Amino acid sequence: MKILVTGGAGFIGSAVVRHIINNTNDSVINLDKLTYAGNLESLVSVDSNERYSFEQVDICNRAELDRVFNTHKPDAVMHLAAESHVDRSITGPADFIQTNIVGTYTLLEATRAYWNTLADDAKKAFRFHHISTDEVYGDLPHPDEQDGPLPLFTETTSYAPSSPYSASKASSDHLVRAWLRTYGLPTIVTNCSNNYGPYHFPEKLIPLVILNALEGKALPIYGKGDQIRDWLYVEDHARALYKVVTQGQVGETYNIGGHNEKQNLEVVQTICNILDALVPKDKPYAEQITYVTDRPGHDRRYAIDSTKMSQELNWQPQETFETGLRQTVEWYLANQTWCQHVQDGSYQRERLGI
Ligand code: NAD
Repeated sequence: MKILVTGGAGFIGSAVVRHIINNTNDSVINLDKLTYAGNLESLVSVDSNERYSFEQVDICNRAELDRVFNTHKPDAVMHLAAESHVDRSITGPADFIQTNIVGTYTLLEATRAYWNTLADDAKKAFRFHHISTDEVYGDLPHPDEQDGPLPLFTETTSYAPSSPYSASKASSDHLVRAWLRTYGLPTIVTNCSNNYGPYHFPEKLIPLVILNALEGKALPIYGKGDQIRDWLYVEDHARALYKVVTQGQVGETYNIGGHNEKQNLEVVQTICNILDALVPKDKPYAEQITYVTDRPGHDRRYAIDSTKMSQELNWQPQETFETGLRQTVEWYLANQTWCQHVQDGSYQRERLGI
């Protein structure tokens, strides 16, 4: 297969590109605008492979998308390009509306125009795989609020997004479904929980805490730190996405999660414990924890039921939270140069989205 991966220079996209080049015989065309979140240094291990190519293109640019489709003639699209940080969406929602909604619409239209030129067999085999988030479902009950077994997000949970980010992703999910129903474009949607792992831009909780801890800076906890997320190691997500694009059923949604519900405070304390063991200093790293004002509209709990992925596509996460987090901390300790380079721009780990 030739797979067009949008957002392949980002955190999850680069894991998908590395997975495909290292573990399959497929080719990848990485289409990325290279915003602050995109970094080609995340792809140095695969960028000299003859099955890899790169196109610096904005998904809002229809003429450039048409050129890429006609030049490379892909068999599938895996669409990961997006603005992805909730705090940034609170400070400046415009980019989220533009890339996540208008960009997805433009990509769908360019894909449809190209798909219409294909022969019947190729048209049937073609896939447009839209990669989305569990945040489109909104908030789940928290153990503080309800006794007994707590509900999980399933593929039929109603959409109720809370932030400009999740609302823009929800909009894009609806567009993708409409392009299947109205035009017959063979689409699949996946909704995944919070990812963590190597090459994660240091504005997100886990890399921010690792780097701040090492530099002796405050480890900010939003509100009480009792927000629950279902953490998934990024390479487990990349394996899941490849299964979906190659074996998933057209028109289906698949929820992908890590079976790892953790409160943010517990995540930060675990990182501190790992650092205490790997890079001990005179005081425990946990003494750097500080409590800051909560994020406006902060969802309290997300958790995924990924039964469909395990039953229909035989996918299970391979990493536990403990093994994945330790590997992640070790990766950041060994890759300080990558961390310095991606932060060379205007962002210096300051608080956004208040
Ligand atoms: P990221 O912010 O790390 O990377 C996004 C990539 O998209 C970057 O390389 C950026 O340069 C590129 N991009 C942004 N705007 C573009 C545009 N207009 N045209 C072309 N490229 C553009 O994001 P990520 O964490 O890797 O997330 C990838 C996808 O997965 C997103 O759609 C996100 O909504 C979804 N997702 C993320 C998580 C998570 O925990 N990070 C969880 C579930 C789903």
